[in-house]
Amino acid sequence: MGYNYQKLLNHQISFFNQGRWDDVYYRISLLKKLKLVIEQHEDEIIDALGKDLKKPPVEAYSTELLVVYKELNKFIRRIKSWQKPRLKLPSLINFPSVDYIHHKPWGQVLVISPWNYPFQLAINPLIAAIACGNTVVLKPSELSPNTSKIIQKIIHQCFSKEIAEVCLGDADVASQLLELKWNYIFFTGSVAVGKIVAEAAAKNLTPVTLELGGKNPCIVDTSAKLDVTAKRIAWGKFINAGQTCIAPDYILVHESIKNQLTEKIISEIRNFYGDQPKESSDLARIINKKHFQRLIKLFQNQKELRYGGKYAEDELYISPTILIDPELDDEVMQDEIFGPILPILSYTNDNELHYVLDQHNPPLSLYIFTENRYFAKKILSKYQFGGAVINDTIVHFINDRLPFGGVGTSGIGSYHGKHSFSTFTRKTSIVDRKTWLDVEVKYPPYAGKLDLLKKIKNWIT
Ligand code: NAD
Repeated sequence: MGYNYQKLLNHQISFFNQGRWDDVYYRISLLKKLKLVIEQHEDEIIDALGKDLKKPPVEAYSTELLVVYKELNKFIRRIKSWQKPRLKLPSLINFPSVDYIHHKPWGQVLVISPWNYPFQLAINPLIAAIACGNTVVLKPSELSPNTSKIIQKIIHQCFSKEIAEVCLGDADVASQLLELKWNYIFFTGSVAVGKIVAEAAAKNLTPVTLELGGKNPCIVDTSAKLDVTAKRIAWGKFINAGQTCIAPDYILVHESIKNQLTEKIISEIRNFYGDQPKESSDLARIINKKHFQRLIKLFQNQKELRYGGKYAEDELYISPTILIDPELDDEVMQDEIFGPILPILSYTNDNELHYVLDQHNPPLSLYIFTENRYFAKKILSKYQFGGAVINDTIVHFINDRLPFGGVGTSGIGSYHGKHSFSTFTRKTSIVDRKTWLDVEVKYPPYAGKLDLLKKIKNWIT
């Protein structure tokens, strides 16, 4: 007999309905406990990320743990004031009344997360959902089993099942969970599975956030400062071995500086990982054999493999690899790469630049390297994208005052910091009418009232 997910959901519903969760101080105390328990398990978390992805400890700490601490600290400090009702000017028509917006939790939230940043992409939505007063069922990725297990252990130490539970398993478990009636679904993962999630949610008209992916272009124009450009591209591309949803997917550089930029990127790769990247402890590994096989196929028949292209299946190792001028209909230019392979394409005029950009759906991120503000502005206004950075890569993720999310096939909705608060609460409008006065004008009989309404129309509208 499998796990009874409906029973789990019923427990969460009845806990939620008891109203104990309305107490923000109780929720803050549990967030503080979560922070403490994560701190106590830091080494285990870093170790699990090492086992799953050979994630270098510095990357594990900075891109997983610090991101989680930041979200925890923010919610611990701010949730009380964020959730306060917001008074709004009442409408004259309703006089006398007190009007306000009340932020209500949705209720029961399902979170489904991926394997590439398996700790923070699972825990951060959970933190925000819990802080806002929802209950949570989290289904982390089966492809990062060590991290998923430590997540489960931590959540069990902090929360009873009525508040938060972690259900381990694969797509089958996720499908069973998606059959239930949730009040909100927060999904991070691929576009293909995002569509499955949206379809399941639509059956109950459940609102969703979908944090998906896409092909993130990285445009380099002639005015770019090439040394810093090369360094920032190489860093954003090869961190976590390119398995980052906001990694630059491919470069689109002006033909006149293509060779120079390529040489500088190669030189940065050498600076970062040495001449033998396989020996470097700073380069992560590919998550599993399936993705490894998918990735090496992307460069095996390429006409110009400029750098890298080395691999070792037993270690799931692929070296940072640079391809020059792949065809637009090559597989590497079709779907999101999600690995350490960087195609470099060039353009000579605006038409060629836009032709390449027009091949793909709106990306999660867009990068432009230029000193020419007008050039950047033109691209930013012409295209749709989740978020953009001028003269760097992936750093927009760091500022939680900025909403993080995609558009079209790269996602629906956004989160981080206060934007997560907006995601995991629903704005409800409350009009508290006073009874000491009841203006007659709105009630029938209407005789003679039309003229009055016409006279005061500019007052009341
Ligand atoms: P995935 O879609 O394969 O899996 C994500 C989650 O969905 C996992 O927990 C998995 O078990 C579950 N799942 C898989 N098949 C399912 C099905 N048929 N029904 C229901 N659930 C199912 O994604 P992934 O390979 O884990 O992650 C990589 C993708 O995620 C990339 O496309 C990347 O761009 C994207 N991503 C996006 C963000 C973001 O914030 N926008 C962050 C990280 C990763």
